[in-house]
Amino acid sequence: MQIQSTDYQVIFGKQGYSFLSTLIKEKKYSKLILLTDDIVNEECLPHFLPFLETEVPFEIIEIESGEDQKNIDTCHQIWQILADFGVDRKALLINIGGGMITDLGGFVAATYKRGIDFVNIPTSLLAMVDASVGGKNAINIHQLKNMVGTFADPKLVIVDVDYLQTLPADQMRSGLAEMYKHGLIADASYWNQLKNLDQLTTDMLEELIYFSVYVKNEFVFADKNEKNVRKALNFGHTLGHAIEAYSHQNKGIKPLLHGEAIAIGMILEAFLSYKKGYLDWDAYKEIQNTLNLMFQTVAFSKNDIEICIDLLKHDKKNTQDQIQFVLLEKIGQYIIDQQVSESWIHEAFEAYLAIGD
Ligand code: NAD
Repeated sequence: MQIQSTDYQVIFGKQGYSFLSTLIKEKKYSKLILLTDDIVNEECLPHFLPFLETEVPFEIIEIESGEDQKNIDTCHQIWQILADFGVDRKALLINIGGGMITDLGGFVAATYKRGIDFVNIPTSLLAMVDASVGGKNAINIHQLKNMVGTFADPKLVIVDVDYLQTLPADQMRSGLAEMYKHGLIADASYWNQLKNLDQLTTDMLEELIYFSVYVKNEFVFADKNEKNVRKALNFGHTLGHAIEAYSHQNKGIKPLLHGEAIAIGMILEAFLSYKKGYLDWDAYKEIQNTLNLMFQTVAFSKNDIEICIDLLKHDKKNTQDQIQFVLLEKIGQYIIDQQVSESWIHEAFEAYLAIGD
């Protein structure tokens, strides 16, 4: 199975590694650099290395795992190591890891010596269905997510679901949130399929991941630089990013995984879609109930909510001081560039906190 993206392919399964070998041969790379984190190095590299059939010399750069590493200091360290290794513009960076690694590695590759080639091998569900595909790479500035970045395509993405065998359950759920999003914005039957999942086999998972990548890729194809329809992929992210950032900087609520924060963002933004008169109440409740079954409710205090809304105002996607939302017209259909009042956002949080009352 494969999906053609803008000018690279996403290859599913073990055949991806033959594509990698061919790429390395054809491009005559001077050196290969594997970028990974400590956990992935231990859990996934033993699976990957036997597939790396090449005479080209390679080095491994291991960084600490965690979203907190996705910053300019880590980039600086990696740029320095690349320079120390004598890496030239004909080298290939292979990012093997979750979305933190593919985002950071893509950014490092796009900027080192004005750009070297890179390949993404996602090992988390979230990176498979979202972060590794689409050419967006970024790092955070303190609590502000993805503030500095580039649009730069990988040469190849390999989706090998075997990596998921060691992925912890909460990280699997985090990835599922983005898959739910794909259903909500683009395909009601996919949403229904995910909503009714009671167990996941590997075969089923590969098919679902394939469909999610297909959905994401359609948006990327139509609007690579996110001027228009690609914004739909930000459903749940306007509030979700603020909540995620807040959860990592403050003691008010527990640190949330990306997908956990996005799930809350989707519930809140589904409420805003209802307030705006698009989504009917039953559909809103269906979204709320489904996501709530999967993700724990977070008890935001009034102060937490105020700070999240404050962070929201810094969202890089806002234009002319107006907060822009992607909302749902119905399940499977989005509408972009929507504005809502601050009081509705407060109401959305209140409705979220009232779940279960
Ligand atoms: P992550 O890379 O931090 O991975 C989560 C955790 O899982 C880490 O501890 C990692 O070491 C571990 N892990 C990864 N694969 C594993 C495996 N196979 N077995 C055991 N442990 C494994 O985070 P993530 O959830 O993969 O991605 C989140 C990041 O992706 C965020 O920075 C987010 O902003 C970014 N993102 C980017 C895009 C994009 O379009 N560029 C889209 C969505 C998300």
